[in-house]
Amino acid sequence: MIDNSIFRDKTAAYYTLGCKLNFAETSDLGKHLSEHGIRKVRTGESADICVVNTCSVTELADKKCRQTIRRIRKEHPHAFVVVTGCYAQLKPDEVAAVEGVNLVVGSNQKMNVLEYIESYWQNSGQKINVTPTCETTEFVPSCSQDDRTRHFLKVQDGCDYYCSYCTIPFARGKSRNGTIADLVRQAEQVAAVGGKEIVLTGVNIGDFGKTTGEQFIDLLRALDDVEGIERFRISSIEPNLLTDEIIDFVAYSKRFAPHFHIPLQSGSDTILKLMRRRYDTAFFRAKIEKIYSVMPNCFIGIDVIVGMRGETEALFHETADFLTTLPFSQLHVFSYSERSGTRALTIEPIVSPRDKQLRSNQLLELSAEKRRAFYRAQRGTRHHVLFEHARKGDRMHGFTENYVQVEAPYRAEWANEMREVTLNQLNSEETEYEM
Ligand code: SF4
Repeated sequence: MIDNSIFRDKTAAYYTLGCKLNFAETSDLGKHLSEHGIRKVRTGESADICVVNTCSVTELADKKCRQTIRRIRKEHPHAFVVVTGCYAQLKPDEVAAVEGVNLVVGSNQKMNVLEYIESYWQNSGQKINVTPTCETTEFVPSCSQDDRTRHFLKVQDGCDYYCSYCTIPFARGKSRNGTIADLVRQAEQVAAVGGKEIVLTGVNIGDFGKTTGEQFIDLLRALDDVEGIERFRISSIEPNLLTDEIIDFVAYSKRFAPHFHIPLQSGSDTILKLMRRRYDTAFFRAKIEKIYSVMPNCFIGIDVIVGMRGETEALFHETADFLTTLPFSQLHVFSYSERSGTRALTIEPIVSPRDKQLRSNQLLELSAEKRRAFYRAQRGTRHHVLFEHARKGDRMHGFTENYVQVEAPYRAEWANEMREVTLNQLNSEETEYEM
C-alpha cells in the first residue's frame, strides 16, 4: 500500500525514448502517478520527480538516453531522477553511474516505480532494482494517446525469437499478451472518449495469443466490431506471422486500414540466415504480392538493417537489387549496431561505419523514389482523412487510411474528424497532398 502523503503536492516530468510501446507505457505510468496525487509539470516548471523511460535498440539509443538524463539534470536540478525501460534493464550499472541518476528500475517493474521511490525515500530501498526478464510472465496493459489523434493500444509484449542482432528479448522478456475481451474493452473506452483511430502495438504482435491461447486474427475480428472507432492500424508485424488469412481479413474488414509495416531486415538470404530470421526473400516477395493482389493501394513500409556483420559489398548489392524490384511504399533504414550479449558478435567481417553510411544513403534514396511513386499513383483517388488538431490559423494535417499525408487550410470543425477527399494536388516535394 503506497503512502500517498509523501507524494502530496509533488510534480513529475516524463521523458520517453524509443518505440510506441514505451510511449504507451509512459502515458500509463503518468496516469498511475497522478492517481497518487503527483501532478504533471507545466512547461517551464521544475519537477520534483523525473521519470525517464529508456530504449536500448542500438548503441546510439543508449547514448541518447545518457544525454537526455544529463539534460534533465540541468533542467530540473532538484528533481529525483528515476530511470526505467530497456536500457535500465540491460545495463543497470551503466545507467546508475550516469551523473544525476537517483534510482534505476528494470522494465519488468516499470509500473511499480512509485513503490520503489517510496522505499528509497524511506531509506529501505536500493538504487538499482532490476529482476531478470525471464521471470516475467505478467502482461501489463497500456493504452495512450499521442499529441495528434491516434491511440496506441498495447496488445502484446516481449519476444521469443532471439534474432542474432537483437537484445529486445533480454530487455522485454518472453512473449505475452492481453486477452481479447480486455483489449476490446480498452478499445471501447477509447471510443467512449471520442478516439477515432487505434494503432495496435507490441514487440512481436503477430505472436499474439501465446499466453491466452487465442489467435491474432480473432483479436482483429473482435476489434473490427467496436463501434465508434473508425480506423485500426496494425503496427510492425513479422512477415512469417502475417498470414494470408490476416491479409484477406484486413482487405475486407470494416475498420482495418490498408497499411502494413513489415520488417524485412535484409534482401540477402545469406544475411537473413545469419540474422536468424524466419523467412527468405522469396517468401517475403510472395507476401508483398499477396497484399497487393487484394489491396492494390495499400501502404507498405519495410524495415531494413544495413551493415550487419557479415554483409559484404556483394551481399549488400543483393539487398539493394531485391528492394529495387520489390513493390512497396517506404523504407525505414537502420544501421546495424553492436549489442553485447548477442550472437551476431561472432560474425565476420565487420562493416566499417563509412560503408554503413554509404549503404544507408543508397537505400534512403531508393525509399524516397518509391514513396514519391506511391504518392503519385494516388492522384485522383478518393479517401477518408482523419485530420489532427492544429492551432487556429495553422495548416491542418491528416492521413488517409492508406497513410498518405494530406494538408488543408485550418477549419476548427475538422479536428479529429474523418473527411472524404479527392487527392489532386501534390506539393512540390511530392511528400503531401494539398487541399
Ligand atoms: S522478432 Fe527478432 S528483431 Fe524483432 S524483437 Fe524479436 S528478436 Fe528482436
